[in-house]
This record gives sequence, C-alpha cells and structure tokens, in this order.
Amino acid sequence: MHKKFIFFIAALFVVGAFCQRLPREVGEMNQNTDDPYAEKRQEMVERQIVARGVRDSLVLRAMMKVQRHRYVPESSRRFAYYDEPLPIGHDQTISQPYIVAYMTEALGLKGGEKVLEIGTGSGYQAAVLAEIAEEVYTIEIVEPLAERAKEILEKEGYQNVHCRCGDGYQGWPEAAPFDAIIVTAAPPRVPQPLVDQLKEGGRMIVPVGTWFQELILLTRVKGRVGKKRLIPVRFVPMTGEMQKKGKK
Ligand code: SAH
Repeated sequence: MHKKFIFFIAALFVVGAFCQRLPREVGEMNQNTDDPYAEKRQEMVERQIVARGVRDSLVLRAMMKVQRHRYVPESSRRFAYYDEPLPIGHDQTISQPYIVAYMTEALGLKGGEKVLEIGTGSGYQAAVLAEIAEEVYTIEIVEPLAERAKEILEKEGYQNVHCRCGDGYQGWPEAAPFDAIIVTAAPPRVPQPLVDQLKEGGRMIVPVGTWFQELILLTRVKGRVGKKRLIPVRFVPMTGEMQKKGKK
C-alpha cells in the first residue's frame, strides 16, 4: 500500500513535468493558420522553454510570435525549431531557442526600453527583443551577416531595430545609455565600454570565458555594478578589439 502510494505521487510528478502549459493568453496566440511552422513553434515554446522554467509572459509571447525559420538559412529551415543552435554561415550560429528566451527573461524587460545587442548574427534575438522593447540597437562584425539580418528584419517589419556593421566592443556611444545590454558572442572578460553604457537600474547579460564560459548578469544600482553568475554556456568567441586585448 505504502509503496503504491509513493509510486502514485512519483507518477504525478512525472506527468506534471511533461504537462508544462503555456499561460492562457500566450497559448491563445497561435491562430495564424497560414504559417506552416506555427505548431512546431508552439511545441518549441512549451517543451523547451516553459518546461525549463521561463515564465515571463512577454518573453513567451515574443518566442511564440517571431518566426525563427525565417532567420535561418533556407537549407536548415526544417531544423529551425530544434532544441539546439544552428549554423548561419561564416562559422557563426543562431543560439538555441531556450538560451534566447533565458537571456531575454534575465534582462527583465517590461516594454518601453532601449536595448543594445552585440552580435546580430541571424537577427533572431534582435527580433525577439524588438517584440518587447521600444528600440533595439544591434551590432554585427561580419558584414554579410549584418546585411542579411538587416534585410530580414526590415522584411519582417521591425522599424524599431537599428543595425550597424562593426566591432561591438565600443558599444554604440551615440545611442547610449541603454536600459539593457545583451552580448551574444563570448568575450574573455566583461567589456568595460559596454558596462559604461548601462543606465542606472540597467541590466546586462554576457557570456564570459574561453573554453569554460558562463552567463554573467550585471546590474547597475546606485552607480555600483553587481555581478551574478548564472549558467554555463557555449557561445562563439567575441572577435575584434576584445580578442586582441584578450591575448595580451
Ligand atoms: N544573436 C545572434 C546569435 C549570434 S552568434 C542570433 O540571434 O542569431 C554571435 C555573433 O556575434 C556572430 O554573428 C559574430 O559574428 C558576432 N560577433 C562576434 N564578435 C563580435 C564583435 N566584436 N562585435 C559584433 N559582433 C560580433
């Protein structure tokens, strides 16, 4: 009897873990019938993102809405909703959907913010940010990627994303300060010029390290910058000035 009871409780936990549901208002979004990937995208959000603990409904909404398959190369569209990063050419990758959601949630956006992204890559993360924030500034160092991302973001109708091709190490001084900064290539140390462009109360998330990397969340409170180590990750290295400095 006792054993049966324990088994029953354990079974409830297992079933519970698989039944991660979307908040109702997010689940109801999926009415777009002319999108062949709508179902796959909902599955991605439920199984990879909600199931791993992302709860911010603004983030879930953005992940449900942005058509990830449009940001990956045509030849890998069918893998766009897989639980993994994908190559986007030029030795670069689009991050795993969960990591995009996790990093976006960590920024604590409520709407109305000005956000800086370093490493536009495919443009996907920028689109997710643009669904929530007011203005997104994004910098990509590889020219063909920067051009392609700009084109897609324009085609998808994001008028609030500002793209620049160049080294993101120095940030975007003319548009600073930012409410939030997200770095999607890994520097060996936190780039100080970016910290300097963070507003009071602002948050910055950055994967730091070389072989071993972890996501670091920085917050500026009363002029002081607090650091919190989050999870181990694997990003492509940040190139340009940071890489040269890292070797010294
Ligand atoms: N956020 C991207 C994933 C980017 S992968 C997406 O959603 O698809 C990291 C990107 O950072 C690569 O495209 C790489 O070229 C770029 N990158 C690396 N170092 C950089 C630097 N110093 N400045 C700007 N971009 C950089």
